[in-house]
Amino acid sequence: MRRKMRRQTPSVLVFTMKIAIFGGSFDPVHAEHVNIVKAAQAALSPDKVIVMPAFIPPHKQDRALASSEDRLNMAKLAFAGVKNCEVSAYEINAGGTSYTYLTLGYLAGKFPGAQLYFLVGADMLKDFYTWKQPETILSLADLVVCNREGDKVSYPAEQLRFFSKFKKRFIGIEYTGRDISSTKARVLAAFGEDLKPYLPFDVIDYIEANELYRIEGVKGALRYLKPSRRKHTLGVALTAARYAERYKIPEKSAVLAAAMHDVAKNMQADAPELSGFATEEKVPAPVLHQYTGAYVAEHTFGIRDEDVLNAVRYHTSGRPNMSDLEKLIFLSDMLEPSRDFKGVEKLRRLLAEDLNECMYQSLKHELRHLKKSGGEIYPLTFRAYEYYKGLRK
Ligand code: FE
Ligand code: FE
Repeated sequence: MRRKMRRQTPSVLVFTMKIAIFGGSFDPVHAEHVNIVKAAQAALSPDKVIVMPAFIPPHKQDRALASSEDRLNMAKLAFAGVKNCEVSAYEINAGGTSYTYLTLGYLAGKFPGAQLYFLVGADMLKDFYTWKQPETILSLADLVVCNREGDKVSYPAEQLRFFSKFKKRFIGIEYTGRDISSTKARVLAAFGEDLKPYLPFDVIDYIEANELYRIEGVKGALRYLKPSRRKHTLGVALTAARYAERYKIPEKSAVLAAAMHDVAKNMQADAPELSGFATEEKVPAPVLHQYTGAYVAEHTFGIRDEDVLNAVRYHTSGRPNMSDLEKLIFLSDMLEPSRDFKGVEKLRRLLAEDLNECMYQSLKHELRHLKKSGGEIYPLTFRAYEYYKGLRK
């Protein structure tokens, strides 16, 4: 016999608390993080926003450069003035890898019956599919995607893709903000650049007081550079840092090598920093500063990391069989934002995709340019070209 099931319906309407959760590594927290929270408050009117710095973010196992304690403290400073917003130490206290589905499970238990919203930047949307247990996340919370003006993803297209996978829609909100990332903020901090346009004042004070993101040797190297070369060098560092994670290159090595790469560009041959420097072969003048630069990096700044030294040593000529760091510095030098030549955009797109193919195309461009302008072709550059051409077969 089948027994009739009676469907249960709630007899009273209950007040549903709305809680928005905003996670991230906050390394460091920046102005756009604060803007996202404010935009979410305006759009969703949550009773509470919980900012949740991760202990170890699942996709960034080796990247956090400030300690969890510092990242938590900075988040508290940044959100102190935002009403109905608290910073939680839950993930940091829990330790280990900080999985969103576990955190949401914890919050669902702590706030039974609450409507949870999980905030992510639009750039995270494409990664969401690879997160651990996205279905669990979506059963516990609504996903809220925060889209920055000027850097937008197309919501209708993304909704289609999202719905076909999860049978649920995300909530899209728009906000205006600047082009800033934590990676960019770390490089600017290492270079001693003005952080005021990008970070809350209290966070800047905290970074300075605790010397966060400082990289030994960087500021010293910059003192050798004229303002225009310093700007180029910052462009190289920002470009290298941006792709360091993509290619599993330590960000600190990339930024240090970038800061050092042109350190000897304007140095006289009789400068005390170059006493003892010698080359056996004849090196074209425009190439020489890569060797003198590596010499200064080693002897004046005490850099011992061979990979960093080689990234400086071959940043102009290239060479066969370069390490990923060497390639990244060579290419960032050639393709940083202030570079402007025919074909640069195509090469920039390649930099985001494939270091070896980008090396081949960049060296090809370089050789063609040297031939056209009558510049001397350094044999090592030609060998590098042949090497990267050979890798394509
Ligand atoms: Fe150079
Ligand atoms: Fe350069």
